[in-house]
Amino acid sequence: MLARLCLVVLAAWLSAVPALAENHFVRNQNEYAAALRGVEAGDVIILANGEWRDFDLVITGQGRADAPITVISEEAGKVFLTGQSSLRIGGEHILVTGLVFRDGYSPRGEVVSFRRNKDDVTSNSRVTEVVIDNFSKPDRYESDYWVGIYGQNNRFDHNHLVGKTNKGVTLAVRLDSEESRTNGHLIDHNYFGPRPVLGSNGGETLRIGTSRYSMYRSETTVENNIFDRTDGEVEIISSKSGGNIFRGNVFLQSRGTLTLRHGDDAVVERNVFLGGGKDYTGGIRVINRGQTVRGNYMEGLRGEAFSSALAIMNGVPNSPVNRYVEVAGATIDGNTIIDSRRVGFNVGADEERSAAPSDSSFANNLLGGIDGESFLEVYDDVSGITFAGNIVTQGGVADELASFNQQPVEMERAENGLLYPVDPAFAHLGAPRDLMPVTLDQVGADWYPKPGNDPVFGTSGSVIQVAPGDDTLVAALLAASDGDVLELSSGEYVVSRTLPLDVAVTIRGSAAEGAEPPAIFFTRPYLFELRDGGNLQLANLTIDGALAPDSVGNSMIRTTTYPIKSNLTVEMDRVTVQNLEVNKSFNVLTLGKSALADRVSITNSNFINVTGAVVSAAAETEDFGQYNVEYLDITGSNFASIGGPVIDVYRGGRDESTFGPFVNFSGNSMANVGLAATNGSGASLNLHGVQIAEVAGNQVAGSAPFRVVHTVGTPVTALTGNQFAETPGFMLEELNYEGEHRAAQSGNVFSGGEE
Ligand code: CA
Repeated sequence: MLARLCLVVLAAWLSAVPALAENHFVRNQNEYAAALRGVEAGDVIILANGEWRDFDLVITGQGRADAPITVISEEAGKVFLTGQSSLRIGGEHILVTGLVFRDGYSPRGEVVSFRRNKDDVTSNSRVTEVVIDNFSKPDRYESDYWVGIYGQNNRFDHNHLVGKTNKGVTLAVRLDSEESRTNGHLIDHNYFGPRPVLGSNGGETLRIGTSRYSMYRSETTVENNIFDRTDGEVEIISSKSGGNIFRGNVFLQSRGTLTLRHGDDAVVERNVFLGGGKDYTGGIRVINRGQTVRGNYMEGLRGEAFSSALAIMNGVPNSPVNRYVEVAGATIDGNTIIDSRRVGFNVGADEERSAAPSDSSFANNLLGGIDGESFLEVYDDVSGITFAGNIVTQGGVADELASFNQQPVEMERAENGLLYPVDPAFAHLGAPRDLMPVTLDQVGADWYPKPGNDPVFGTSGSVIQVAPGDDTLVAALLAASDGDVLELSSGEYVVSRTLPLDVAVTIRGSAAEGAEPPAIFFTRPYLFELRDGGNLQLANLTIDGALAPDSVGNSMIRTTTYPIKSNLTVEMDRVTVQNLEVNKSFNVLTLGKSALADRVSITNSNFINVTGAVVSAAAETEDFGQYNVEYLDITGSNFASIGGPVIDVYRGGRDESTFGPFVNFSGNSMANVGLAATNGSGASLNLHGVQIAEVAGNQVAGSAPFRVVHTVGTPVTALTGNQFAETPGFMLEELNYEGEHRAAQSGNVFSGGEE
């Protein structure tokens, strides 16, 4: 729509300057190159509708404010740049609009770059209504930016950026040359759509500057954008330069925070954070000098520590530029924080981060936590903050802040969808009444649909009956679509090829309770191979490895050896897995390199005679802070005669940019687990670098010990109410923390034999 308006406006310009301006309609890359030669102010290059494959699109030239040089699609949304394509803009007063990048990835370091090269950096240029949709490099650890903004006074608006799965910031404002500083860029009305958990540092959606140039001012405005499920890592936005403004942005169910990581004098105002109760949803993290945080609204946030609704951090005295400059001169005024887990003061306080905030004020904030939970927490000295006129409606308050007015406040939802106090006596508190959160139809390109919820199991509505026999399951699975259910009746299913999976499929037995469930045998080293887009749900089945051949790395389910861009989910309920024992290391599920499972869930299942691990999520061994599983849940299941560990999770290194892994292992029974000579960890449960682990109510007999290695951050491990017979005590290790192991232990009973 806007692009069409632009054309109309351009047409008007054309008639105003007929002697200068030209329209170039181009059908292929050669015609484009010809048109580009001799392009002048006011010229318009129109790309014909259709696919432009492997297009190294470059535009440069001297436009003028009243006569930009324009690259536009014939029709908005009907020009697709695919394969190895990218856009580079040099010169000045350039306008690019109406393009869609999809079905490929940039061979360069950026998809859209506001410079042609180091010597041709654009200024006063605009990219509007451009779509970058799942245009990610195939290997999640190969880095790029989708958008790199350089130069001065550029505008990036009404664009649609969805589904970046590889490492690297989605949009970076670069200050690495003098001509790109104090830049006055405007980033507005963009749709930053779902960015899945990366499982590593480098998953920020927007970054302005870097620590190296953070002493410089950027003066970039980020206004009226929507960040929808931007879950990449702990920082949604990382402000790493001075004088930036973040105003009127809306954050929907996004994990992490707007982080004022480096640089001074930011203004963060009138932003709306709606967490919807999702894990790790946060608000604003304050570091450095002269920061203003006012009139923001936050509701339903569940983050704590670094991802609190509000985290005022402690700094490092005389901090080096890449650490934490202390908070000084902060103004935090008139914010509403409601139904949220945490507001933290002196967050990150430790031996290094010992400098408390100074010369700061915290006033007229309306604060509501979660009933019965701690809410306002203080981790060091808050005497450098002046508190006035704040009210706490719900949730626990640290002793240091006991003077806050604490009382219930009746709230009602106003027409703008936000909650305000009913009593006029409180009208001056919290976010302003005239806040009008930007809506989905006001951001992005209105001709390109916003993504809905992720496809989940069983959502297609189609249930396909599969009869027992040889390779009946193969045929059914190869024909399955996203959300289909394959239903198996009692009997034997023999599978003689590996089943590739690139959709979300449910395979379930139809047998009634008590009846014999269907049994699947497989004659290849792997039964399932998860590929890009693959998600697997198994229920009410028996899977038997008796026919599998002896091969290196046998695994009932494995990830493909090719890179997988998408995150995957594996669920098993009422599944019996048995006789994976043709060789010494036959796993049930193996998550390989560059694969990340959002969730692995095993409930009410039985595993008998398995020589390897049940869940192996330990392929990222380089200690870069990468890992293979975000949430791993195993409950109500039985494990008998398992050679390797039931769980083998490895997340090494000292990076603090991720939330996971998260492990829940509760209410299971284990006998003779982890004792194989090939089990390198010597453990029946091996948790290395897990951030949150709940291990409760398990019955363990004649097995190897549980091993928990804490690495970085503030890992939370609870070992509770487990009973061990003839099993050694816990193996606990802290790698980066002096003192007793921090695992909470209670109600664990060890009996019989060694301990
Ligand atoms: Ca980061």
